[in-house]
Amino acid sequence: MTPSPISFEFFPPRTPEGAEKLRTTRRQLAQFKPEFFSVTFGAGGTTQEGTLNAVLDIQSEGHAAAPHLSCVGSSKESIRSIVQNYKDHGIRHIVALRGDIPSGMGDFGEFRYANELVSFLRDEFGDWFHIEVAAYPEFHPQAQSAEADIRNFVNKVRAGADSAITQYFFNADAYFRFVDEVNARGVTIPIVPGIMPIQNFSQLARFSDMCGAEIPRWLRLRLQAFGDDTASIRAFGLDFVTELSDRVLAGGAPGLHFYTLNAAGAVSTVCQRLGR
Ligand code: FAD
Repeated sequence: MTPSPISFEFFPPRTPEGAEKLRTTRRQLAQFKPEFFSVTFGAGGTTQEGTLNAVLDIQSEGHAAAPHLSCVGSSKESIRSIVQNYKDHGIRHIVALRGDIPSGMGDFGEFRYANELVSFLRDEFGDWFHIEVAAYPEFHPQAQSAEADIRNFVNKVRAGADSAITQYFFNADAYFRFVDEVNARGVTIPIVPGIMPIQNFSQLARFSDMCGAEIPRWLRLRLQAFGDDTASIRAFGLDFVTELSDRVLAGGAPGLHFYTLNAAGAVSTVCQRLGR
């Protein structure tokens, strides 16, 4: 049986040392034969160059690369030019996002939501790109309601998305329920769970509060109980994340997308334990 596809996400390195470290991380992760490596993009275009450079680096090593592209604060002209540049470099895969609105940002630019970016990419570039969008099984932090968030996701898919990657979650049932609900509304594209390794509790708690991923009470208490014992947090986290990955795959998830935070260690162990 062919194993389900996996992919790995990086952020653009900020220094030459960071770029070198990322190359090493990539070499370690390449053994798992990912479908692609993706590279995030800062809202307001703060890492536009960094994303492009990291993507070209990945491509030059013979791997498929998927730049993330956020549209908030951008004009159509600037998005067209970034995307044309990707096309000219032979990139065929894009993760299309609205992006987080920086505080104090007055000008939203010419795109308000990701569905508008997806429509724009389809109108301008036809089927050249495989377009991924974001999905939120526990709902986006600014969602007006669960129903509105699901409706907005369905609209984004109808605008022309080929597949979706979820925000990370620790409640597998939220993922299954989300997939069932959007399937019932006619969405048939793959919705790939985003998997976050657990390495550092306070960082994870802060990040989860911001992005709306719930750390279940029992898990939070377990992790808190380890205090500064990072080795135990990591060991427990590896068991938990491997079980979660196993469970979503067994329940029909079409693949896994790992948030690597530019480090290979934990993610490699999970992949090995999954028999990759
Ligand atoms: P949208 O799909 O536009 O949704 C945003 C909010 O608007 C939701 O609450 C939705 O319900 C609502 N909404 C949508 N359409 C409408 C409408 N027509 N009317 C009213 N409300 C509407 N951020 C980055 O800056 N860079 C990255 O590289 C990056 N990568 C990511 C990768 C993944 C896999 C995920 C899950 C998230 C990523 N993010 C990234 C974070 C993302 O940019 C934020 O979560 C952002 O706030 C929403 O982006 P979106 O594309 O999901 O937006």
